[in-house]
Amino acid sequence: MRQPIDLHTHSNVSDGTETPAELVRAAIDAGLGVVAITDHDSTAGWEEAAAAASGTGLTVIPGMEFSTRRDWMSIHLLGYLIDPEDVDLREETLRIRESRLKRAETIVSRLAADFAIEWADVVAQTTDGATVGRPHIADALVARGHALDRSAAFEGILHPRHGYSVPHYAPDPLEAVRMVRAAGGVPVLAHPGTRGALSVLDERSLAELVDAGLFGLELHHRENTESGKRKLARFAEKFGLAVTGSSDYHGDGKPNRLAENTTEPEVLERIIAEGTGSAPFA
Ligand code: AMP
Ligand code: FE
Ligand code: FE
Ligand code: ZN
Repeated sequence: MRQPIDLHTHSNVSDGTETPAELVRAAIDAGLGVVAITDHDSTAGWEEAAAAASGTGLTVIPGMEFSTRRDWMSIHLLGYLIDPEDVDLREETLRIRESRLKRAETIVSRLAADFAIEWADVVAQTTDGATVGRPHIADALVARGHALDRSAAFEGILHPRHGYSVPHYAPDPLEAVRMVRAAGGVPVLAHPGTRGALSVLDERSLAELVDAGLFGLELHHRENTESGKRKLARFAEKFGLAVTGSSDYHGDGKPNRLAENTTEPEVLERIIAEGTGSAPFA
């Protein structure tokens, strides 16, 4: 029997709730054959995931979810099999992580005007060196009793309409696609079928990303709308882009379950054939 392939998951190196080793264990328990570890703006979880998967029969595809932005819309780009030592990529992701840290401090100081919360509460929700994001602030709000769970914090206090959240530095998606390719990686747009993403990624901008080396679209993802998926399928056909499906598992941080969406083996084969910056861990 063919085992499922899930190409988008997070560990506590970013905003997942499990260590990379626990993530690998969860992937094995879920019956996956292949899992990609794609923490936000960091490759720091690769080694631990590789060690945990060694000899288990699970293949780990090393990857990263690159934070980009266009017109104030946050766009995520998955980069598979990148070279983790690539200097441009390392510098850019460091810049993003540093900006994320400053931005999180700003959000917390704004929150502190109205809620009992301080920076130490957020630090308590992160591991050393982790890519800090609003999910950690959400967890701190939960720990302080200001929200029921992470999702409730996002829909409530952290929603942009309340004015506490501010953006962090992120490059344009076009630049990010080029950087992933230059690092030997395979770029796939993460959950591009939301209303927000499709409002900035029209056919013309997608054509530019394709020219820059975009490989595929994450079509099967719970955040893509049904009409968004139909649009993405048309774009994929027109531009000859591959189509992937993934869970975007965050452990207990999100309801997304491993293997709730999966990728076809033929697509994974092409990713492995095109990715030259690193190799799958088996
Ligand atoms: P940030 O990158 O700091 O702007 O935070 C965005 C991250 O928050 C995304 O990568 C998601 O993993 C997470 N996120 C967004 N919306 C929600 C939600 N409603 N519930 C839980 N996590 C969310
Ligand atoms: Fe996330
Ligand atoms: Fe994402
Ligand atoms: Zn993700």
